Amino acid sequence: MNLQATIAAVKKGEVKAEERVNKFLQVIQSTKEFNAYIKINDKQAKAKAVSVDHRIKDGRKTGKLAGCVVAIKDNINIKDQETTCASNILKGFISPYSATVIEKLEQEDAIIIGKTNHDEFAMGSSDENSCFGPVKNPHDPKRVPGGSSGGSAVAVALDTVDVALGSETGGSVRQPAGLTGITGLKPSYGRVSRYGLVAFASSLDQISPFAKDTADLAVLFNVIAGHDERDSTSAEIEVPDYSAYLNKDVKGMKIGIPKEYFADGLDGEIRDGILQIVEQLKAAGAEIRDVELPLSEYGVAAYYILATAEASSNLARYDGVRYGHRNKDKAGLTEMYAQTRNEGFGDEVKRRILLGTYVLSHGYYDAYYKKAQKVRRLIKNEFDSVFSEVDALITPTTPTTAFLIGERADDPLQMYLSDVYTVTANLGGICALNVRAGKDKNKLPFGLQIMANQFKEEILFQIGDFIDRKCTRYQWE
Ligand code: GLN
Repeated sequence: MNLQATIAAVKKGEVKAEERVNKFLQVIQSTKEFNAYIKINDKQAKAKAVSVDHRIKDGRKTGKLAGCVVAIKDNINIKDQETTCASNILKGFISPYSATVIEKLEQEDAIIIGKTNHDEFAMGSSDENSCFGPVKNPHDPKRVPGGSSGGSAVAVALDTVDVALGSETGGSVRQPAGLTGITGLKPSYGRVSRYGLVAFASSLDQISPFAKDTADLAVLFNVIAGHDERDSTSAEIEVPDYSAYLNKDVKGMKIGIPKEYFADGLDGEIRDGILQIVEQLKAAGAEIRDVELPLSEYGVAAYYILATAEASSNLARYDGVRYGHRNKDKAGLTEMYAQTRNEGFGDEVKRRILLGTYVLSHGYYDAYYKKAQKVRRLIKNEFDSVFSEVDALITPTTPTTAFLIGERADDPLQMYLSDVYTVTANLGGICALNVRAGKDKNKLPFGLQIMANQFKEEILFQIGDFIDRKCTRYQWE
């Protein structure tokens, strides 16, 4: 039963929200070794489920997500709960308010079952940078699930929830969705409120949803999308009903295949799997065109300059005075700041603060930061120009399937290159969806990425859902 049908059954009283929560809690217990969760809200989740069931029994109104069970990445604030960002520096910090997305979920009677593990402050591509230890891939626990929102991806892939929220700055939802065989959307910049999301790189960050497939994703995205006056970067643009774009065909749609995303470095099995689906779209009447996005090759370089610059500024607030951990050696204010940050941040976060401070420093600002901003603008222009010719682009989501835990941990550059196909969408502010594409000969999943121009998510839902329903999967079983 898909999510829409499940919610309908809960609303009719045929399925009890309480039983669903109990079942999910059992699965969470039996899959603990994957380390997907930081905290389980069993009491609150059960109480919410009982209240939903009571209201249904009494014939009272319930929300659009009645009985839908959700997991939340631990960089999204929930009032009166700890928000750790998987960092020692925030341990003990209790959020005084809820993110807008959390308020929306609660208003629509979703049941929040827990907070998920992720790379510290959402920095990483493997979920190895968490103070709570690495998250493991359900398809092979020796391998990473991708990152940084790997805990939320694994929570969905292991069937411990219906859907989950993560966050995207450079691929942190699409990449783990691809590597765990589920669906993940990076919304257009401004489509979802960032209010209550702990900032990493504010001009790139978006709260982003995971689901098993595109149809389930639409149910969740319909609730979280939309303008919020508490986030000045959220767009005042009408939100369509994304479910209306499901169950359609792709006849006449123009789909571009950018050759730069199929060049050296892409695993051959992934290439074949993606192109096989492209052939199926063609057979279904889509018009397939070869296109070029030559600036994509500068995406990773520009991203890691801009994201670290913004991170170095955003993370300055963790000084031991205002949030979480404080060094108690009483050596004076400056030493307290330094010691707190030294003890609280992990290696990758420190590396990025150093790199970001460097590219913003006098003498290097023009050479790195300013140049990267220009490249970003040109990448955006390139997307605008290609989207004047085609409705959507199709690419792989990742160059390889899931790698081994530890394999890239000591080689940051190798790690950063896992994001080669995803960072461009964040730089351009456009939207992009990962759908399941197939599995390689080792039975490891890989994803297909669909990109569309800013605020054109409906195109992603139309094509993504078509692929889910109609396209044969490369070695899927
Ligand atoms: N992997 C990228 C990084 O490490 C993206 C992270 C993200 O999207 N939060 O910065």
